Amino acid sequence: MSYDGHKRLVIPGPVEVRQEILEAQTQWMIGHRSTAFADLFARLQTKLKQAFMTQSRVFVSGSSGTGLWEGASRNCIRDDKKALHLVSGAFSERWAEVSQLNGKQVDVIKVEWGEANTPEMVADALKKETYDVVCAVHNETSTGVTHPIKAIGEIVRQYPDTLYLVDTVSGFLGAELRVDDWGIDIALTSSQKAFGLPPGIAFASISDRVLERAAQVKNRGYYFDFIEIEASLKKNNTPSTPPISLMFAADRQLDDILAEGVENRWARHLHMRDMTHNWAFSRDFGVFGQEGYRSPTVTAVDNRTKNIDVDQMAKFMGGKGFSMDKGYGKIKGKTFRIAHMGDMQNSTLEEVLSGLDEFLGV
Ligand SMILES: *Cc1c(COP(=O)(O)O)cnc(C)c1O
Repeated sequence: MSYDGHKRLVIPGPVEVRQEILEAQTQWMIGHRSTAFADLFARLQTKLKQAFMTQSRVFVSGSSGTGLWEGASRNCIRDDKKALHLVSGAFSERWAEVSQLNGKQVDVIKVEWGEANTPEMVADALKKETYDVVCAVHNETSTGVTHPIKAIGEIVRQYPDTLYLVDTVSGFLGAELRVDDWGIDIALTSSQKAFGLPPGIAFASISDRVLERAAQVKNRGYYFDFIEIEASLKKNNTPSTPPISLMFAADRQLDDILAEGVENRWARHLHMRDMTHNWAFSRDFGVFGQEGYRSPTVTAVDNRTKNIDVDQMAKFMGGKGFSMDKGYGKIKGKTFRIAHMGDMQNSTLEEVLSGLDEFLGV
């Protein structure tokens, strides 16, 4: 394939999107109140439920993942109740802020960047206080840490009035996630990370419990009112005009993902993680994320001992046709991230790593 000056994306979102998927967006436009649209929506429902491993339903949102953060917090936390947010990096921190800015009462369990929130921490907190929701980030993209979502779910499920809300924006379809088996009430994701789609559309699995809760919340707002979205979904539709071109792309991408097999996809990402770790350790870098919790979709390479110039690295790699990350927020430069998510194959990752070797002069 020729890339004509295009730099392939090795950043943790948006990720590189395959040509076939980009082209699926160029189908003729259809009206969103047409039967053709209802068919598209119904097809997507079936495939999304398989991808999320849920029997319930999956909302399709004309927003990025951030919009669904707001929707989840707004619809699931009652005014006189509290939310518990598990915070371990930039994204989990921001979701807690979103809940606060929507007027919700928020407690946080905060660990150092690079560390993981554990089931024990959640168990302790739930013994002391009653919460309407526990909000966890599956894959903390800023630090390359994947949380024990299944084990945390086992704790949360002991509290029938507490909903379990999971941001899987950079984990979904790259790192293992089983919505129904793991007792997850909402799993929300964007399109442009491990899903391998362009940005602009987001998805969330929604349990019946979520809708029961939403019915008890007075100010659900308008755009992300889950009761309204559910009413439309039952008619294979959306309350307002959806991103139809992106839905064409998702329809095609889900066919390819289900053909690969969701579990095979998880395994492919674990393998790319191991390739990246082996490379990092053998070149005297570290891996920033806590051992035992390292992400299958993004590695934050610990640059603190070797201290390469990440700007020079990114510039060099740009010349090789790759767009690289230089680290996020307060760990920028101390780390740089290699995203091995979406449809990236081992062969591309090998090219990236050998490009980095050339930069290092090894
Ligand atoms: C990128 C990201 C978000 C924000 O998603 P947008 O689609 O940019 O709104 C939220 N959570 C995590 C873990 C992310 O990686």
